[in-house]
Amino acid sequence: MRCPACRQLGTFEPLGVPDVFFAGTSYSAGQRRCPSPSCHTHVFVVLNQSSGQLAASYPPEIIDFDSANVPEPVVAALEEAITCHANACYVAAAMMVRKTLEELCGDRGAAGANLKERLKALGGKVVLPQELLDGLDDLRLLGNDATHFDSQVYNKVGREEVELGVEFTKEVLKGVYQMSWSSGPAARPSSATRVTVFSRVKATGAWRATSEGRVASAPALRR
Ligand SMILES: [Zn+2]
Repeated sequence: MRCPACRQLGTFEPLGVPDVFFAGTSYSAGQRRCPSPSCHTHVFVVLNQSSGQLAASYPPEIIDFDSANVPEPVVAALEEAITCHANACYVAAAMMVRKTLEELCGDRGAAGANLKERLKALGGKVVLPQELLDGLDDLRLLGNDATHFDSQVYNKVGREEVELGVEFTKEVLKGVYQMSWSSGPAARPSSATRVTVFSRVKATGAWRATSEGRVASAPALRR
């Protein structure tokens, strides 16, 4: 698992305290610590013995986010989205991803009557690859669906949709605030992550509204 404190991946070590096994279930719970000698963060874990998988951990794992050069209101919105995701509040996370886009448009002076228009205007104010600009409109739909309380659509926003939304937003912020695109395509840093995230989005249509107005689920992304 990824350490919630130092964010390194590692095999967490037992603390010498026996795990508790819950009779009649396949679950056990126990204490572990981060294997990094400079961290050793203490984590409470719940394990599914039949699948061998980690069922839950506390403090929860959080999605990594490099906020260098990103304006504070944008950082605050995305960090709240990440916190919501870590605590399995996926609808709230989707709303905060949408708010991150609003803050991004505000910072770049992209005006318009609604977020769709503001994102369109953003395309003229930042230098981003077309695939990222196209993806932004799909990303807007994620938060849009999450906020439609009149329908059951928001129930469809789950962990995978939010994870893709956050990863995609990170790539957009990287492109806007952390990379120099001005020297032409040859100077653009190749981003394996960007390609990976975008191809996953393309392959699954993860947050594209379907004809029924539902967010398509992305079962292929389950880990
Ligand atoms: Zn650690």
